[in-house]
Amino acid sequence: MAVLIVGGAGYIGSHIVKALQKDSREVVVFDNLEKGHMESIPEVPFFQGDLRNKNDVKGVFKKYQIDSVMHFSAYSLVGESMKNPEMYYENHIYGTLNLLTAMKDFSTRHLIFSSTAAVYGEPLKIPINEDHPASPTNVYGETKLAVEKMLNWFDSICGIKSIRLRYFNAAGADPAGDIGELHDPETHLIPIVLAAALGERENITVFGNDYATEDGTCIRDYIHVNDLSEAHILALDYLKSGNNSDMFNLGNGNGYSVKKIIEVAEKITGEKISVRSGRRRPGDPAVLIASSDKAMRVLGWKPGFNDIESIVKTAWKWHRGKAKTWITNKPGTEEQRHKGTKEK
Ligand code: UDP
Repeated sequence: MAVLIVGGAGYIGSHIVKALQKDSREVVVFDNLEKGHMESIPEVPFFQGDLRNKNDVKGVFKKYQIDSVMHFSAYSLVGESMKNPEMYYENHIYGTLNLLTAMKDFSTRHLIFSSTAAVYGEPLKIPINEDHPASPTNVYGETKLAVEKMLNWFDSICGIKSIRLRYFNAAGADPAGDIGELHDPETHLIPIVLAAALGERENITVFGNDYATEDGTCIRDYIHVNDLSEAHILALDYLKSGNNSDMFNLGNGNGYSVKKIIEVAEKITGEKISVRSGRRRPGDPAVLIASSDKAMRVLGWKPGFNDIESIVKTAWKWHRGKAKTWITNKPGTEEQRHKGTKEK
């Protein structure tokens, strides 16, 4: 029986695939390759399909014996969600509905869902724990919260147990340097800063320097992708041991400003990074810092990368190494990418 990794060729999914395989667990990756990379999942059973295509979703459940699901497939750009909300509603809500329907039909009862700190919106208090009201300030967070609510109903009506993991800012790469973060176009802070250090970009624009923070720039809690992997495995085992559905924050509990990240990157890369000041990005809260006490207490999770230098170091190893060898253009026609391909 396999764990189905939906979106397993993406940044976070592929690190979890690697961790599950290291733990000798059977996995199957389902991905439409719109954002994912085949290079990130060498020698992994793979089914190319799109969650928005019901036949694709049914197809993977028919083909493989699936006993649990981890769902990473999503659009994840706050800025984009505020320009094209329909993309986010369709992909997250309709896509997840197709997945839950297939889980119901094929009697698959355990789901780990990638949620986000963006469900909380502008924090009322820091650090944020799971009791904090959920009031998203952007469409990305809003659609993730809507899925969380759907999961409650599929639990009470259909018995599908789920753990929602609310990530703060996923960062870093596989310490071996084999896989890492690669988006096209890239919008995330750390990869952009490192691209500037590599001379692949001229500069980095800081989005807003008039926030009510010490240096005026936004503060985020960066959590290493391998620590996220560890939490997913613990969450799956938690459900498999017969526990109830729940939600957990995943972060380090430390906040770093945009300026601080640039400073750390300069120190690690030894390069001077050219910085420009830009306007605030719509939908960005000033400060997001997690309390992950609940995940530590209930799941026994403990992040291993708890300083920003060690996280940025792994990202640097990846970006100056293997990332350059990956192909960033995607296979398939435009239509296949949006509707799901028929070729399996
Ligand atoms: N950011 C920035 N310039 C960039 C990209 C990001 O100033 O080119 C800021 C962004 O406003 C946020 C932080 O860096 O405060 C982290 O952004 P990222 O997109 O990496 O993650 P998010 O917080 O959106 O999940």
